[in-house]
Amino acid sequence: MRFATKAIHAGQEPDPETGAVVPPIYQTSTFAQEGIGKHKGYEYARTKNPTRDRLEANLAALEDGEYALCFASGLAATATLLHLLRADDHLIASDDLYGGTHRLFAQVFEPSWGLRTTFVNTSDPDAIREAWRPETHLLWIETPTNPLLKITDIAATAEIAHEHGALCVVDNTFMSPYFQRPLPLGADIVVHSTTKYLGGHSDLVGGAVVTSKQETYERLKFLQNAIGAVPGPFDCWLVLRSVKTLAVRMDAHARGAQRVAETLQTHPGVERVFYPGLSDHPGHDLARRQMTGFGGMVSFVVRGDFAATERVASSMELFTLGESLGGVESLVCHPATMTHASVPEEHRVRLGIVENLLRLSVGIEDPEDLVADLTQALDAAVPTPA
Ligand code: PLP
Repeated sequence: MRFATKAIHAGQEPDPETGAVVPPIYQTSTFAQEGIGKHKGYEYARTKNPTRDRLEANLAALEDGEYALCFASGLAATATLLHLLRADDHLIASDDLYGGTHRLFAQVFEPSWGLRTTFVNTSDPDAIREAWRPETHLLWIETPTNPLLKITDIAATAEIAHEHGALCVVDNTFMSPYFQRPLPLGADIVVHSTTKYLGGHSDLVGGAVVTSKQETYERLKFLQNAIGAVPGPFDCWLVLRSVKTLAVRMDAHARGAQRVAETLQTHPGVERVFYPGLSDHPGHDLARRQMTGFGGMVSFVVRGDFAATERVASSMELFTLGESLGGVESLVCHPATMTHASVPEEHRVRLGIVENLLRLSVGIEDPEDLVADLTQALDAAVPTPA
């Protein structure tokens, strides 16, 4: 089965009891048992719920994986996954990654457990090798990164992890399985914030982990139940409904983003544009090889100071100023004060998350309307250089 077909049919079979074409929401916390130790496979909804089972089957199929597990948020998925490690272990992570993931590694697991993280530019394999220590057991990559859209070679990076007997995890939130499937490229585990493209309508918060390794799955399944950060059945159902249109939505996001990135590149009020679909993006060739599209995220540096950047963001009418991404509606975000505010300033500035950087989540509105909106906001807010 091809992707768009799996999105609609994997785990989405009609309800065997009633024939309902749309799977029901099992809004229940517990299940009646026929006798002590005799039940239909369901006992308590933290451990297993039929609506969540369906979503897990669907996401495993979309990522070309064997097993998926769903969580209450992307960070709940990440926090649960980190319990694969032990206190005093070391992990290597992309230096430019979602601010909340950085915060979890550096401000929660490090002080509480002594789990140390070295943040490196994972686009550079030598930087990964240099950071490697005997106690490194996990390599965590985001590709493209958030918010600077740097590309890491998944196959080459997974190989480095495997040379050392470590696991390679890829946060695939930005691309969704429609544009990038890390498991067949060699990664061991894929993580998602289903809040984003998989949910696609800015109306839920959720997370998922996908793997093909049975042992890793068994441990994660134990941790999912033991830690308990599971999603409710209605949120699972919302994601199941949304993935049916993932293929068409992702194509529309990417079409709009390409048009937006090319327009920004020619505007005098813009200093620099980050989008892997632009031929001068440093990761463009690699992106063409390992992704089947360039996604819907575009970042750009406004030519001007913070005040000019603020004027651009607030002059936009179709792009709503807000956190998050991946919904059908376009959003604009100021990473330095929003998604990446928890990353220490010095680290942020060194990476290039500067005060005049804006990140766009390009929705599926007509690209011509989006381009007109951005152009009017930039024209109004940034004085044209003489
Ligand atoms: N990974 C990426 C790339 C993200 O952008 C986010 C949130 O913005 C997360 C993980 C965390 O997901 P959640 O907000 O669902 O906890």
